[in-house]
Amino acid sequence: MEKFDYTIIGAGVIGCSLARLLAGAGKRVALIDRAAPGTEASHAAAGMLAPSAEADELTPLFSLATRSRSLYTNLVAELIAETGIDPHYRTDGTLLPFATSAARDHMLHTLSWQMAQGARVEQLSSSQLSSREAALSPTFPQGPSPGFGGALYLPDDHQVDNRLLMQALVSSCRLRGVDFVLGQSVSSIVVRKGRAIGVAIGPESSSETITAGAIINASGAWAAQITGDGIPAIPVRPVKGHMLALRAAPGQRGGQPRELLRHVIRTEEVYLVPRHDGRIIVGSTMEEAGFDKTVHAAPVARLQEAAQRLCPALASAEKIDAWTGLRPATPDGLPVIGPLPQRAGIANYWTALGHFRNGILLAPITAEVLTHWLLNGQPPFPMDAFLPDRFAP
Ligand SMILES: Cc1cc2nc3c(=O)[nH]c(=O)nc-3n(C[C@H](O)[C@H](O)[C@H](O)COP(=O)(O)OP(=O)(O)OC[C@H]3O[C@@H](n4cnc5c(N)ncnc54)[C@H](O)[C@@H]3O)c2cc1C
Repeated sequence: MEKFDYTIIGAGVIGCSLARLLAGAGKRVALIDRAAPGTEASHAAAGMLAPSAEADELTPLFSLATRSRSLYTNLVAELIAETGIDPHYRTDGTLLPFATSAARDHMLHTLSWQMAQGARVEQLSSSQLSSREAALSPTFPQGPSPGFGGALYLPDDHQVDNRLLMQALVSSCRLRGVDFVLGQSVSSIVVRKGRAIGVAIGPESSSETITAGAIINASGAWAAQITGDGIPAIPVRPVKGHMLALRAAPGQRGGQPRELLRHVIRTEEVYLVPRHDGRIIVGSTMEEAGFDKTVHAAPVARLQEAAQRLCPALASAEKIDAWTGLRPATPDGLPVIGPLPQRAGIANYWTALGHFRNGILLAPITAEVLTHWLLNGQPPFPMDAFLPDRFAP
């Protein structure tokens, strides 16, 4: 008999969210990571939960992302009740400032298909914008007239502190009995008679197999490195992002200190994500740099300058950290969720991969769909667009 019902490779936000639900359903779950849980992309992220701002066109991702965002209220309430850790889910919404009416019209045109799908997009005048966010620059960007022309407001694009979220998910997994196997690298999937029966950990010469009824690959940007006899490499590649954190002095309202910024602010150059603890997370670059995670001074400086142009008070903010992370990207920009197809001839091997720029947002729905699918043999709604066999040779 297998030691576990499910073995999950990768204890990032995707692996931990799935392990938590499967263990909550009474299953024996092993969660394997070569490092500590949540130390890769799930640590590096900004935590924006932005189905609208992130969607350029209508793809199946938009409805998946919208569903996932709507799961956050309950997820966070459950995590707080279970673990006492509050991941600071914030529903203040996202502002997209614009300089000119032409820029506004272009943005509205870009978002029109979403509005037709029911997404809420509100227009704010320049004075409404400054009454919401007084710290934004009165002269940004260098349009024909000084100042912002206003902003679009996306009330349903939220944010969470992804590092606190990871702490809460890991704690919940432990409370639910998930077996963490940490500091162990999975070298391959072990296949017998057309079934994935376990994973090999450790060096090839002395590897050990952890057996399970089904194996789920949730190893983020490294997924393509994990294969096995007859198991194809899923084409996930790393896309590097530089980030930094600033600590700003609080702003003022009515003579009272208050957070410098309240909303997530996004422009084409930069985004600012204010945290409850006074940090402002500033991001991000998109770089094809392989698995190199070196932090370079130049991109960090460019982000910091862009942040200061948007919000001049940040010029006096202390830079408290800079880091990089690797987004797990796929050739078509969609995640890879589900089992290998029957015709691949390998049973019991599943993927939860390729969440690219939106893994924090998509973790709750990915976990919910896969748990339903693994326990009932079918997904709760069609997932054809996300199946791994779209990459079959
Ligand atoms: C700079 C940046 C900003 C981002 N901002 C946002 C955002 O605002 N909102 C949002 O929704 N998303 C954002 N993302 C994307 C999001 O972070 C990712 O999509 C998400 O974290 C992916 O989660 P994951 O669990 O698949 O991968 P990861 O968190 O990378 O976890 C994968 C795990 O697998 C482990 N692993 C890999 N190979 C092996 C092996 N062979 N054996 C054992 N363990 C292995 C790794 O150690 C790692 O812990 C951002 C990403 C970056 C880099």
